[in-house]
Amino acid sequence: MDDVVIVGGGVIGLATAWRSLGRGLRVTVADPEPATKASHVAAGMLTPVSELSYGEEALLHLGLASRDRYSSFVAELEEVSGQRTGYRDDGTLKVALDADDLAVVDKLRRFQESLGIPAEALTGRECRRLEPMLAPSVRGGLLAPADGSIDPRRLTAALLTAVERLGGTLVRERVTEVLTGDGRATGVRLENGGEIHADQVVLAAGPWTQDVKGVPPGLLPPVRPVKGQVVRLRSATPILGRSIRGLVRGSSVYLVPRTDGELVLGATQEEMGFDTTVTAGGLWELLRDARELVPGITELEFTEVTAGLRPGSPDNAPIMGATAMPGLLLATGHFRNGVLYTPVTGDAMAELLATGEMPEVARPFSPGRF
Ligand code: FAD
Repeated sequence: MDDVVIVGGGVIGLATAWRSLGRGLRVTVADPEPATKASHVAAGMLTPVSELSYGEEALLHLGLASRDRYSSFVAELEEVSGQRTGYRDDGTLKVALDADDLAVVDKLRRFQESLGIPAEALTGRECRRLEPMLAPSVRGGLLAPADGSIDPRRLTAALLTAVERLGGTLVRERVTEVLTGDGRATGVRLENGGEIHADQVVLAAGPWTQDVKGVPPGLLPPVRPVKGQVVRLRSATPILGRSIRGLVRGSSVYLVPRTDGELVLGATQEEMGFDTTVTAGGLWELLRDARELVPGITELEFTEVTAGLRPGSPDNAPIMGATAMPGLLLATGHFRNGVLYTPVTGDAMAELLATGEMPEVARPFSPGRF
């Protein structure tokens, strides 16, 4: 009998598993294809400041808390797993292509300052001094010096190794049902008919969380899939020194460089249900907008285009914590920023699983708010 069974081995389930093992809990993760869904497609921007949106102040605090613990989280993970994660904290540059885009960026700068985050407006020339490959037409920008990025594929690989090294069990099977008894969750049933019994069950299956049967009606808030397409390019040496988040005539695009020469362009945002078709239009839009900002991308090798599903909750904020059913917990709904929220979610869920207490920082995101 385990202490905890976690349904879903994306960044959220795996970070919860690793941190819970570190608290001395016995943990099993069940997932037929761990680390292959949103966590495999994601660009890996760690940008609570550059992605700040109006009305999302609570998410800003969660994002800052998670970003601030990233370097120690990664140092520990790299030590335990012996693997690198591609983590970098060298800032994100937000840029605007035309005057209207610049007006939007400037409004965001004032909003950012009103929340106590100092921001320095940069001219086009100053932006190009930082990033010489930017187009001469870029009008200006804003630097978020502490925002960063990570390679989510390396992150999940390192988490899988760390979970194994700390004695966690990975079961490569789909969970069909939560088992219950005396009004509490007692484990899960697998597609092959097997059962895993545990004191606590964590559902961390992204937008597929709804498919797990056996949960009393009304207990799971709806989590919808929000499709995103991402393009990967490659050059022998990186053409950018830091992530660029751009506005191109009102449309958003980002370019995330890795030190090995990979450049990730993202991302579309489409409400298409569980469709993950890569479309010519999605690919074209990303290449078109990225090329406006950095014309040199056309010289790079094209390596991959993928589509994934962000788990979106009704208020677009994560859902983490205990449900009304004893022993049943949720960790999903991390939407556009699940990689950013990985350390804070892993720590908060492990604390809750080990002590029954949710840390202050995560309390606004409990399932009970719906
Ligand atoms: P997933 O990674 O989807 O994992 C869910 C897991 O559950 C899967 O492995 C699946 O196999 C498993 N599963 C499903 N059903 C079952 C079942 N019945 N039994 C067992 N297992 C099951 N975030 C950032 O912070 N920065 C970014 O730059 C960023 N870019 C993104 C770009 C795109 C295009 C997309 C799609 C997402 C992006 N995200 C980004 C968001 C981030 O990827 C997600 O928020 C995060 O990966 C969610 O992790 P997860 O573990 O909840 O879900």
